[in-house]
Amino acid sequence: MRCLSCENLSFSIICKDCQTNLLKANFYKRELEKDFYNYSFYSYDEVKELLNSKYQFYGDRVFNILAKLSFKKFAKNFNYDEQVVAIAIDDHTRHQFSHNAILVKYLKSDNITPIYSTLKATNIVKYAGKDLLFRQKHKRHFKYLGLKNLKVILVDDLVTTGNTILEAKQILEKNGCEVLFSLTLSDAKN
Ligand SMILES: [Zn+2]
Repeated sequence: MRCLSCENLSFSIICKDCQTNLLKANFYKRELEKDFYNYSFYSYDEVKELLNSKYQFYGDRVFNILAKLSFKKFAKNFNYDEQVVAIAIDDHTRHQFSHNAILVKYLKSDNITPIYSTLKATNIVKYAGKDLLFRQKHKRHFKYLGLKNLKVILVDDLVTTGNTILEAKQILEKNGCEVLFSLTLSDAKN
């Protein structure tokens, strides 16, 4: 097959060269609200096309590679003196796989336990290409089905305005959880 990124012949959907050079994970930090930060690994322009693979049948292979290069490394270096859980923002399956469940899976480590299918958007509205006003008017209305009083890392593929993450944070806090920070593959403002 051909590499999705450089189109050279490759055994993997993203060739080894692109994985080592182009997709070397960086580390970006953005404050979404006072003292609450989102961390991300790629600038949006670098991975825009790859993120869109979540709508394709081969998207699971792309997300496995991206998550291995970023989330997995993060988890390995994450030191915290308490156990925390990682929860994806809406990890329901749309196209035979859930791209956010893949991301969460790679955070599994001594300190971090991935938890699946606990945070559901009851309002499935597409935000892509919509402005802030539209996003504010059409909230996701999350429902949290998990345990109370957990320490949580929130996970999503992309942060744009940060509204979705903050909405999810709020519902978790209503359930006595403490959200430490959020983690996304990419930040649209980078
Ligand atoms: Zn390539």
